[in-house]
Amino acid sequence: MKIVCIGRNYADHAKEMGNKVPDEPVVFIKPDSALLRNNNPFYVPAFTNEVHYELELVVRIDKNGKSIPKQFAKDYYSSMALGIDFTARDLQQKLKEKGLPWEKAKGFDYSACISPFVPVVKNMQDVNFEMHKNGSPVQVGHTADMIHEVDEIIAYVSQYFMLKTGDYIFTGTPAGVGPVSVGDLFEGYLQGEKLLSCAIK
Ligand code: MG
Repeated sequence: MKIVCIGRNYADHAKEMGNKVPDEPVVFIKPDSALLRNNNPFYVPAFTNEVHYELELVVRIDKNGKSIPKQFAKDYYSSMALGIDFTARDLQQKLKEKGLPWEKAKGFDYSACISPFVPVVKNMQDVNFEMHKNGSPVQVGHTADMIHEVDEIIAYVSQYFMLKTGDYIFTGTPAGVGPVSVGDLFEGYLQGEKLLSCAIK
């Protein structure tokens, strides 16, 4: 199982990070050891002083496929969830400056928090989601604002990486990312329903 993630997929987030909006999806992968499930807490690792939360819509692949045409992408997933792409921003910044890969900053243990899944909706580009930090909204997202739509992401990614049953796709974060602190509680709402809860320890 692999966790495929898309970076800079919302223009307002790319802007807040000082990044250009990319022509093609920015793709990276987290290993299976990054999974954090069942609303378990997140423990801040010792190698970073600045972990950011990034709330993202996640889909689960339920059929193997390679080079999937966009018009058939819908056949390859039937459930969605919320995820937090935990990012060691200080480490990522250092790696970016040196032109090195992001893996250590993005794929570390338990950096991919995923909520329980719910069935997908007919129009995946009409899904709203929100992150609340200690009870107040910090990210308000709508999939209509994605630069690359879910089906386009599946088509693009599967040219390079065969998608297999059980893989997860993180589809990018809207603006409003920020640092986590020990004691914080993050709660994610998908279409108004609370699906995700993650305490920072
Ligand atoms: Mg992300």
